[in-house]
Amino acid sequence: MKIVILLGAPASGKGTLADRLVPAYAIPKISTGDLLRAKREDGTEIGNLIKKIQDEGGLVPFDIVMQVIEERLSSPDCTNGYILDGFPRTMEQVEAYENLRQKLGHSQAKVIYVNTPVETMRKRIVGRRSCSNTACNTIYNEEFEEMKPKKFGTCDKCGSALMRRADDNEESFTKRLAAYNEQTAPLKDHYEKLAMLFTISGGVDPNHAFESAKRVLGEPQSN
Ligand code: AMP
Repeated sequence: MKIVILLGAPASGKGTLADRLVPAYAIPKISTGDLLRAKREDGTEIGNLIKKIQDEGGLVPFDIVMQVIEERLSSPDCTNGYILDGFPRTMEQVEAYENLRQKLGHSQAKVIYVNTPVETMRKRIVGRRSCSNTACNTIYNEEFEEMKPKKFGTCDKCGSALMRRADDNEESFTKRLAAYNEQTAPLKDHYEKLAMLFTISGGVDPNHAFESAKRVLGEPQSN
């Protein structure tokens, strides 16, 4: 069983790295940000609360996060392992995950810390646009020449309009970074003390991060 915890500030490149690791190691990516985003649409009181908190860049309450994560980690596709993206995010979640892991009989994780300069993360967030066609979902970035769409606001691949996530703005980034520095950065020290932490650079190209992660996790077995 291969369990990977990706640790890093917002837009450090964790999600992109996870997307490369998924097919390579044939294990699912579990992003609490995505799981919670899916819940917002159900029209319930909890859904509305999640929407408000996510749009402001705050942290969703512990009980809601743990319920979502326990349900997901109990799924059959997690039996060979998984990649956690965005969880755990606080020391309280670290302890709860440790209990859950033992309860589910899962092996111990390797923690990969994706270390990226703040200015790179800021540009990734404020410039990020994605195709509004969910079947396409291609990502662009207005801050990086090589990631701009050919025509402003339009997807190169399918011609649909590009959209911006409500929390991808300067104010929300500042808040998410502050939440990270206050609540998530201490996790680094915790995992380092347990000799579970491996640091890779997320500031250069995604291939570099992927190759570094493979060195930590071992070459994937060919299927
Ligand atoms: P992300 O996609 O990881 O940047 O997460 C987007 C938003 O979802 C965060 O700003 C939080 O509001 C919420 N969120 C994601 N993961 C967690 C978590 N582990 N604990 C609390 N809130 C979370």
